[in-house]
Amino acid sequence: MIDGDINTEVTENQFREYKKVTSILIDVRNLIKIFNIASGPVNVLKDVSFQVKQGSFTIIFGPSGSGKSTLMNVLSGLEPPTTGNVMIAGQDLYQLNPDLRAHFRGSVMGIVHQENYWIKSLNVLENVALPLYLSGNDKSTALKAAKVSLEQVGMQEFSNYRPTVLSGGQQQRVSMARALVANPQLILTDEPTGNLDSKNGKMIIDLLQKINHDLKRTVILVTHNIEYLPLSDSQLYILDGELTEGRPGEKMPPEILESLRNQLSQLTQMEKMEKKSV
Ligand code: ADP
Ligand code: MG
Repeated sequence: MIDGDINTEVTENQFREYKKVTSILIDVRNLIKIFNIASGPVNVLKDVSFQVKQGSFTIIFGPSGSGKSTLMNVLSGLEPPTTGNVMIAGQDLYQLNPDLRAHFRGSVMGIVHQENYWIKSLNVLENVALPLYLSGNDKSTALKAAKVSLEQVGMQEFSNYRPTVLSGGQQQRVSMARALVANPQLILTDEPTGNLDSKNGKMIIDLLQKINHDLKRTVILVTHNIEYLPLSDSQLYILDGELTEGRPGEKMPPEILESLRNQLSQLTQMEKMEKKSV
C-alpha cells in the first residue's frame, strides 16, 4: 500500500524528464553482494558494473548458480546490495526508503519470474488487475487496464478462468499481462521460459520481442538458453558472480563457452552413469 503523502506522479514525471537527456536507463556501479550464512560469507556478485540502454532488448546470460537471480533481485529493488549502486532513470534505487522504493518499482518495472504466483481465489482478470489496485487505483480503473493488458498478450478469452487451471505457457502469458498492467517502462524477466517446452518458450520470447518493438519497452531477459542470444541487441554474460558486457559482433567470452562445455560434459557423464546403473 502507498502512503497518502507519496505523490504517485513523481516517478512518471521524473522518468519523462530523464528520457529527454540520456539514452541510458539502468546504470549499475560496482555491485557487490555477499550473503552471510552459517558456514561463512558467500560472495555472489563480484564488483558488477554495466549499463542498459532505453528501448533495448538485453539478455543476461549465464549458467545455473552464476548469480543471475541475485542480480535480478538487486535490480528490481528487492535485495539491497552489500555495496554499489543501482541507478534507474537517474534514481539511485537504494537511496529510496522501502516504501518509496516499492512505489518506484510498481510504476517503473514489470517483473516476470520463472514460477507463477497467483491469488488462487481471484480469476485471471482480477489477478492481472491486482498490482494497480494495490497501488491505490480504484477497482474499475484497475480492471479496465487489466483487460487491455490481457488483450496485449492474447489471453482476454481466459479472463474468468482461475489462473491455476491454465497451462504453463498460458500462465506465463497472464504473468506477462500482470507485469504490463501498470504500463511500466522496464520489463524484467527471470527465466520466464525455464519451465516451458520449446514451443511455449518461443511464444513467450515472441511476446517479449513484441513488447520491445511495438510498445518500445526496455526488456531484460535472464536466461541460460543459448538459442535466445541472437534475439537480443545487448548481452551481459555472468559467470561465478562476475559480469562481462558482450561487444557488438563478438562471440561469447571464451570462459562462458568453457563453462557451458563443462556443464554439458557433466550432464553427459551423469547420463552415462544412469544408463549403467539401470
Ligand atoms: P542463478 O539464478 O544464476 O542460478 P542465483 O543468483 O540464484 O544464481 O545464485 C547464485 C549463488 O548464490 C548460488 O551459489 C546460490 O546458492 C547463492 N545464493 C543465492 N541466494 C542466496 C542466499 N539468500 N543466501 C546464500 N546464498 C545464496
Ligand atoms: Mg535463477
